Amino acid sequence: MGTKSKFFVDVMSLNEEVTGSCHLCVVKMPNHETIKFIVDCGLFQESEYYKYNYTLPFNPDELNFALITHNHTDHIGRLPLLAKLGFRNDIYTTELTRILMYESLKDSCSILSQVAKRNNTKPLYDADDLKITLGLVKEIPYYKEIQVHTNVKVRFLDNGHLIGASMILVKITYPGEEDINMLFTGDYSSNSTFFNVGRISKKIFNLNLTVIQESTYATTYTDSIVEIFEENILKAVSENKTIIVPVFSLSRAQEIMLKIKNIQDSGKLDKTIPVYLDGKLSIKYTNIYSKYSYMFKDTAKNFFPENFSFVDKELRADLITNTKCKIILTSSGMGSYGPAPLYINNYISSENALIHFIGYPAKGTLSRKLKNAKKDDFVKIGGVVKQKKCDIEYTTEFSSHAKLDEILTFLKQFSNINLLLVNHGEHDCKENLAKQVIVNNLCKDVAIESRSTFYRINNNGLLKELTTKFL
Ligand SMILES: [Zn+2]
Ligand SMILES: [Zn+2]
Repeated sequence: MGTKSKFFVDVMSLNEEVTGSCHLCVVKMPNHETIKFIVDCGLFQESEYYKYNYTLPFNPDELNFALITHNHTDHIGRLPLLAKLGFRNDIYTTELTRILMYESLKDSCSILSQVAKRNNTKPLYDADDLKITLGLVKEIPYYKEIQVHTNVKVRFLDNGHLIGASMILVKITYPGEEDINMLFTGDYSSNSTFFNVGRISKKIFNLNLTVIQESTYATTYTDSIVEIFEENILKAVSENKTIIVPVFSLSRAQEIMLKIKNIQDSGKLDKTIPVYLDGKLSIKYTNIYSKYSYMFKDTAKNFFPENFSFVDKELRADLITNTKCKIILTSSGMGSYGPAPLYINNYISSENALIHFIGYPAKGTLSRKLKNAKKDDFVKIGGVVKQKKCDIEYTTEFSSHAKLDEILTFLKQFSNINLLLVNHGEHDCKENLAKQVIVNNLCKDVAIESRSTFYRINNNGLLKELTTKFL
């Protein structure tokens, strides 16, 4: 058996909080060869971290391969930058993530080029870089162990966070040495409205593991979430109002469609009330969901509500002005982009409307601005000043991240977590998860990742921490 100092992995996270997800792994082998790979390559979306988008702590053409957990911009948004900087090796992900990625990266590319034009700067990457990137993507089936390098095997495991999402188990081998196993949860949920989440085999639960765990909702318990959406919608319909629901194009739009269909099917919502979806990307994703709905649970196969229409420009003009009772789902989720600001602008001063947000109102977004405003206050939407007269509601009941109790239940299934690396959460969430993991005695060592630390690990877990110069 070799000594542990000759075979190890240095792993570091590039993200400080929730966006810009990317892990760099550098494997050192007894023959002095090195393997470098990344798991995810997300865009930093918070304005305070946006500057990080221009730097990488590695040379992309030295990477042997890249692994992608799921299609959210905070996990894939910088992939084309790698291609721009010379990366030409394989990017592995699931079939559905590849299909969804095609749409989202195309959309991001056009947004980045518009922003660059407006600011008279160069975009992070261009359409040629995007084309190269999409050509590098290889599909991997769920659960099958795939050799992606002489010394590395990967297995993509089911994950309820999003269709196509996975957790990735990475096994690094070297003759005569103990395998090093790492499990990257990506963004994680143990269940999904749309599909049954497959189980993990006992063999995996018994592995000696380093788990890289997200912590987005690690200060929230499942039973603290109150379901109010249905009640709010029914009340507004009984008052004959126009209901505007700003939705994220991917997953949330389709989940709300299904929710409305279920309320219709229960007999509580009049099926003659029309339901609309407006937003180019939302419609594209909905068509992909529809195409792959044969994979969904029976309860989600038909997620289209009755009396439902996609919105084109002509219909939009009518919907903005007519006062009939109707439900309009429109992107973006926080109301700041896409057609949502148009609807909000037109209905905010109407007593006869409800704007129902279905996500956390993040700093700097229109939803946060409206949350802080009282009835009859004046608010600025774009350049226009409006008086807030309509009702505004919020709910967090549709989250697709595991809450603290679910994360702990998930981790309790493993018998040999040597090291738990906590990432992808605001400061309080990461700290709380780390504390709870210690209290529940779920692993040997726990660490909170940051951009300035490499964790050196082997089969037994943490060997040492190394400070990097990368900030
Ligand atoms: Zn994420
Ligand atoms: Zn995600």
